[in-house]
Amino acid sequence: MPNEQTLRAQVRDFVDTVLLPLEGRYLNEPWAAVVGALDGARAEARARGLWAPHLPVAMGGCGLSLLDFAAVSEELGRTPIGHYALNCQAPDIGNMELLHAHGSVAQRKQWLGPLARGEIRSCFAMTEPERAGSNPTWLEARAERDGDDYVISGHKWFTSAADGAAFAIVMAVTDALAPPHKRASQVIVPTTTPGYSLVRNIKVMGDAGEGYATHGEVRFDKCRVPVTNRIGDEGEGFTLAQARLGPGRIHHCMRWMGICERALDLTCRHAATRELSPGVVLGTRQSVQHMIADSRAEIDAARLLILETARQIDAHGAAAARESVSTIKFFAAGVLQRVLDRAIQVHGALGMTDDTPLAYWFRHERAARIYDGADEVHKSVVARRILKGYGVVVRE
Ligand SMILES: Cc1cc2nc3c(=O)[nH]c(=O)nc-3n(C[C@H](O)[C@H](O)[C@H](O)COP(=O)(O)OP(=O)(O)OC[C@H]3O[C@@H](n4cnc5c(N)ncnc54)[C@H](O)[C@@H]3O)c2cc1C
Repeated sequence: MPNEQTLRAQVRDFVDTVLLPLEGRYLNEPWAAVVGALDGARAEARARGLWAPHLPVAMGGCGLSLLDFAAVSEELGRTPIGHYALNCQAPDIGNMELLHAHGSVAQRKQWLGPLARGEIRSCFAMTEPERAGSNPTWLEARAERDGDDYVISGHKWFTSAADGAAFAIVMAVTDALAPPHKRASQVIVPTTTPGYSLVRNIKVMGDAGEGYATHGEVRFDKCRVPVTNRIGDEGEGFTLAQARLGPGRIHHCMRWMGICERALDLTCRHAATRELSPGVVLGTRQSVQHMIADSRAEIDAARLLILETARQIDAHGAAAARESVSTIKFFAAGVLQRVLDRAIQVHGALGMTDDTPLAYWFRHERAARIYDGADEVHKSVVARRILKGYGVVVRE
């Protein structure tokens, strides 16, 4: 296995030479038209030994620690197709990590193996339109025991990448009378199960997407699956969701740093070449210089915080790093929004087109301040812990 620096350089070269030439097609053509070319990029990633950097070597991956994966994730984040090309895209990466850590031998064979090889895709169905997603202990979906089966009914939305997924990991209540954090379980439901339906791909900022690049509304109408499809013990759904989100937030935050670096690079290239009048480029204007300096400082600060948090998780586990994880989630999401906004401003009308990836990111990454915990929720986690040291105990 190459060391982290070598691997990072190899990933950077792969992004520059294989993915960036494909990016324009991804931004401007339907998924079905580009998926063949993306599969070609995936084959090239395997041939270069870059496949599934988050997975152990024994599973065909690179066996990276979270800290090392963070560096790779930043390189991949420079293009919207980076993580998909190396099979470490959300939500599959979270499902792979979950099954690897908590799946039974049979579940790993049936579902993790094909996921790791990139033969199938998956989705994660927790959020419901009728319930506040910010309170994941309050769910309507039910998994009722019937002999050796669960019968699952529920209505979910923002089930990312449901379109084309082979299975969903569903969060559903298995014991409504248990304490709130012990009520739900996570159960694998193959999308071929009678009663499962993808209602629609939800339009997000005007774009419903297609295939992998979608967010689905899905229904489970008395879906019958064996009890052996449950991941972990009954009532452990919330605990597993928390375990998934620690590393998951590092993945997202470092991907955002990659987006920020690319946005700043595009900003500087444009500032250096766009002439306001003959021989006078945009970069000579102080307001543009200040935008560049603000973005540089904010990206560097966010990255340091994220890497320190990844180090804490590697050393002490996700639970011990909870406050840091919440800090980076809202801080890095804010940096991402501001850096993209400045980049679009400097590009003028060009920034509003899909001739660069900026508008795509601006549309799709506004959600960064909402998914995996809204800003306000994370800020409350951080502030409550700080205030506890001053004797202030806030009860929800
Ligand atoms: C692009 C995208 C992809 C997603 N992918 C998935 C997925 O794959 N699977 C899945 O299950 N879910 C997914 N989600 C759903 C996501 O996890 C939820 O949107 C999120 O948990 C917030 O829940 P909600 O939308 O119901 O907002 P609500 O909980 O209704 O909150 C609405 C707003 O209220 C404010 N708020 C909430 N709580 C507090 C508080 N305690 N204090 C102060 N203000 C508060 C926040 O501003 C928040 O944005 C995705 C969402 C998006 C946008």
